[in-house]
Amino acid sequence: MMKYILVTGGVISGIGKGIIASSVGTILKSCGLHVTAIKIDPYINIDAGTFSPYEHGEVFVLDDGGEVDLDLGNYERFLDIRLTRDNNLTTGKIYQSVINKERRGDYLGKTVQVVPHITDAIQEWVVKQARVPVEDDDVEPQVCVIELGGTVGDIESMPFIEAFRQFQFKVKRENFCNIHVSLIPQPSATGEQKTKPTQSSVRELRGLGLSPDLIMCRCSTVLENSVKEKISMFCHVEPEQVICVHDVSSIYKVPLLLEKQGVVSYLSRRLNMPIETRPRKMLTKWKEMSDRSDRLLEQCSIALVGKYTKFSDSYASVIKALEHSALAISHKLEVKYVDSAHLEPSTLQEEPVKYHEAWQKLCSADGVLVPGGFGVRGTEGKIHAISWARNQKKPFLGVCLGMQLAVCEFARNTLGWTDANSTEFDPESKHPVVIDMPEHNPGQMGGTMRLGKRRTIFKTNNSVLRKLYGDAEYVDERHRHRFEVNPELKSHFEEKGFRFVGQDVEGERMEVIELDDHPYFVGVQYHPEFTSRPMKPSPPYLGLLLAAAGKLQSYLQKGCRLSPRDTYSDQSGSSSPDSEISELKLPSISNE
Ligand code: GLN
Repeated sequence: MMKYILVTGGVISGIGKGIIASSVGTILKSCGLHVTAIKIDPYINIDAGTFSPYEHGEVFVLDDGGEVDLDLGNYERFLDIRLTRDNNLTTGKIYQSVINKERRGDYLGKTVQVVPHITDAIQEWVVKQARVPVEDDDVEPQVCVIELGGTVGDIESMPFIEAFRQFQFKVKRENFCNIHVSLIPQPSATGEQKTKPTQSSVRELRGLGLSPDLIMCRCSTVLENSVKEKISMFCHVEPEQVICVHDVSSIYKVPLLLEKQGVVSYLSRRLNMPIETRPRKMLTKWKEMSDRSDRLLEQCSIALVGKYTKFSDSYASVIKALEHSALAISHKLEVKYVDSAHLEPSTLQEEPVKYHEAWQKLCSADGVLVPGGFGVRGTEGKIHAISWARNQKKPFLGVCLGMQLAVCEFARNTLGWTDANSTEFDPESKHPVVIDMPEHNPGQMGGTMRLGKRRTIFKTNNSVLRKLYGDAEYVDERHRHRFEVNPELKSHFEEKGFRFVGQDVEGERMEVIELDDHPYFVGVQYHPEFTSRPMKPSPPYLGLLLAAAGKLQSYLQKGCRLSPRDTYSDQSGSSSPDSEISELKLPSISNE
């Protein structure tokens, strides 16, 4: 019998509900259970495909080409699973399915209503999707973690809450439970931990017919015992059902934090799951990882030359992939955000300080990463950055747009085609080195993007990236693009040592570029960041970090193995818990 764990949020969003839900899944998986996840986004958009990264952060791409909420990335990374587009449920998708049924006449002339038709559709979706295998062994999951986006009480989430209210009786008590993630603010004026917002949100949840089995309290410091007792008393739960999730230096600590407070044994009793409660191998690895992340002595900096640099969420998976790789080689990662538009000569005139600051950041970094993107703004700046990395022999990785611009840069500055460009930015260019080569997906609305998992074949043994992939003959990675390197101009590049070492199955699409005579100059048309894992860093990113830390050559010579000295910090020196990127921290709230 499938066990469902619904994770709801109280007070405010953006306090780490996704990380907590993923961590619950992680500790259950470490007990040998098969775990899957569903993320519910109560907005009316069908999916995240049309979202602006300015507003929503990155669009996460799945194997099947699903463009989904970036939280799905948390589940894939924490649980090391592969999800499908239907694991992201939105109001839009539910209404679309109900309306399609209505048009087909499936409702036999009845009035179609939120209750019961929408709520039924939600439950059916969840039951069906929970059973879809997400691991390589193709077995049906045993536990499904369902994260409901937003906070309880939002108008948008009402049909979902109502659906689960009904659902708890349908599937029986021992198969369903609710974890409510709430906020315990600590206004600096008194320094006291305040429980009132949590009390009201639990009351609201109860009013809608769901009772929390665990209240996970997000707070900046450890929850005081008296506060725990107060929550227990006013929210009508046992003290053991109140779990403290205080700010921690690394998100890898959250599974351990939950496990220590008895979450596994509580859930195994509550959901009647016979699971082993001995120390678990997998959690040991998480412990090792989180300890290691506290003891990193050496630093490695990467300039992230992008566009939406005010919102680090726009590059969530890219940053994760960098972190995974840095951790694998025991280096503390510093990401230097560089707004590529500031690297352009026009900025020098208008805002000289910004221009010089941007170049200072770029030039002082150990490696350069130009990520994916759309739209012309800042592309010239990215080309300047690539040119600098190529000439100064700085390790460089170009992802998707980053690779396309590396092709433009080489064409302009080495082949002498000064107007070379992508037709995305200059349709009139005499040297269209990157052109529109859409993949036609008939029947799919607006389906001209090349989306999801596609195969890349390595064309030569002599490729750094191929070695980094463990000398694979081919790799399957996720794509999201419309433009491609112009295959007709290929030979001009290869004559000058700019090689297209990976291509698609038909040999028409250039997937991987490498430059001879450079410590690390790699471009990939796909997005390797989407499949990077904490314990299995993505090879193109690992290559960048290794090169930036000056370790790539020895790594390759050792047959692509990290020596224990590289992977573990052998000196138990001072801890540096200030890694600002992957920590779990509450947003600062004003105390008025
Ligand atoms: N805009 C480019 C294209 O459509 C690159 C897309 C991307 O970087 N994801 O091909």
